[in-house]
Amino acid sequence: MPIKLLPCPFCGRPGQMKTSQGWSAASCTDVGCCGHQIALTHQSEGSAAAAWNHRMPVHAETGTKTAA
Ligand SMILES: [Zn+2]
Repeated sequence: MPIKLLPCPFCGRPGQMKTSQGWSAASCTDVGCCGHQIALTHQSEGSAAAAWNHRMPVHAETGTKTAA
């Protein structure tokens, strides 16, 4: 079942799902966008997609949630 991702909250480009060693996160497809640097903090793609679609990406450096 494909997971629907909303466009990037920062630049509007399509989102993409990233997975590594069982961890997942959605991120921006533009490497120059601040939405691209997302830590893989979700244990399921469904959870990662839900977080992305709620416009609350987590920055890899700080782990803090970004205010809108
Ligand atoms: Zn973006």
